[in-house]
Amino acid sequence: MSQSPDFTGFHTRAVHAGARPDPNTGSRAQPIHQTTSYVFEDSESAAAYFNLQEYGNTYSRIMNPTVAALEERVANLEGGVGGVAFASGLAAQSAALFTLLQPGDHVVASSALYGGTVTQFKHFLRKLSVELEFVDPEDFDAWRASVKDNTKLFFGETIGNPSGAILDIEGLAKVAHEAGVPLMIDNTFATPFLCRPFEFGADIIVHSATKFMGGHGTSIGGIVVESGEFDWSNGRFPIIAEPSPAYHGLKFHETFGTFGYLMKLRAETLRDLGACMSPFNAFLIAQGIETLPLRMRQHVSNAETVATYLAESKKITAVHYAGLKGARQEALVKKYLPKGAGAVFCFDLAGGRDAGVKLIENLHLFSHLANVGDAKSLVIHPATTTHRQLSDEELAASGIGPGTIRVSIGIEDSDDLIADLEHAISKL
Ligand SMILES: *Cc1c(COP(=O)(O)O)cnc(C)c1O
Repeated sequence: MSQSPDFTGFHTRAVHAGARPDPNTGSRAQPIHQTTSYVFEDSESAAAYFNLQEYGNTYSRIMNPTVAALEERVANLEGGVGGVAFASGLAAQSAALFTLLQPGDHVVASSALYGGTVTQFKHFLRKLSVELEFVDPEDFDAWRASVKDNTKLFFGETIGNPSGAILDIEGLAKVAHEAGVPLMIDNTFATPFLCRPFEFGADIIVHSATKFMGGHGTSIGGIVVESGEFDWSNGRFPIIAEPSPAYHGLKFHETFGTFGYLMKLRAETLRDLGACMSPFNAFLIAQGIETLPLRMRQHVSNAETVATYLAESKKITAVHYAGLKGARQEALVKKYLPKGAGAVFCFDLAGGRDAGVKLIENLHLFSHLANVGDAKSLVIHPATTTHRQLSDEELAASGIGPGTIRVSIGIEDSDDLIADLEHAISKL
């Protein structure tokens, strides 16, 4: 893991972190190392790599130079000690969890989460005998009261998908640390340009790089970043502190210190789960990040303009965008998202479910699809698509009604977006 020069500006780091001209060819763009494996210099170094005594490429399921460039870039932008990339955001999340959980453990999570995460937690983790508890993200007494001897993790999203609820990361990190558990934050909707959760005490960050990071709707990917600050030897995490039977008795925390969790995440969980990121996707996502700050500024500016327009329409009962003037969570936005509250939000149509379907059918510039964070503006009706698996109660807990529409505002001209919405709303 070679270090990038120590640039300070975010725009500069977005372009340069993790990337340097290729020493063999001079190639300025990041080469795509489309290889499964790497020739060892000699038998001794091969053994040292497999023993994790030296850091070197062995097999692309576990590490790859193009993927490593992306990992270094994202870790740099988040201010973490390192990162490990995965085939998707949910693969990254699964791996981040598996690395610190065992059967019988307990996780406390915010109730305002991405639908895919809710089903992953509720069904998949429970199948592995991990106990899940969802609590109101704003009720710190509830978080405190939920802690048990087997609690291993607090989990939340900086900006909830799709409710748009902003998490008080610093407050929640304090409660987590009082209990001796790490706080894991899904920072997908904010990206490190809008919010850096480590600065507020978060311990692990997970991303769906599929969204704003890649930014063009071309590649599925995910990444886990760690702050290196959490004390894994506090007695609650023998899985990281004690000798690991899955890696010939290695004590990850003692051996690698601040890199202990990340090393275990790569050398065991990524190895065993196998959901590695392809070098080509890493290339596209790293390239996307070069323009992340420019795109995010335009995303946010357009989102503010469109949300303000929608808030004035009589056919819309509510616009759930924390970036609106006078919004309920304005103070949290000021603290955590001073550059803007992101570009994904929901609004409720007076006409309910039927109006939702009709609106989507009359939009032309907005693409009707299940993604967010594309340069193009996107729209979806969560109750009939992304959140279909959830019960009415779970829907309500996620802040979704039958006439709720989710938009992901792109980087087009805001006048064109408003004209498209105006036309579709007039048909209702
Ligand atoms: C999309 C998304 C995920 C899952 O990411 P994939 O790359 O689709 O696996 C997780 N969290 C949030 C907030 C998301 O929007």
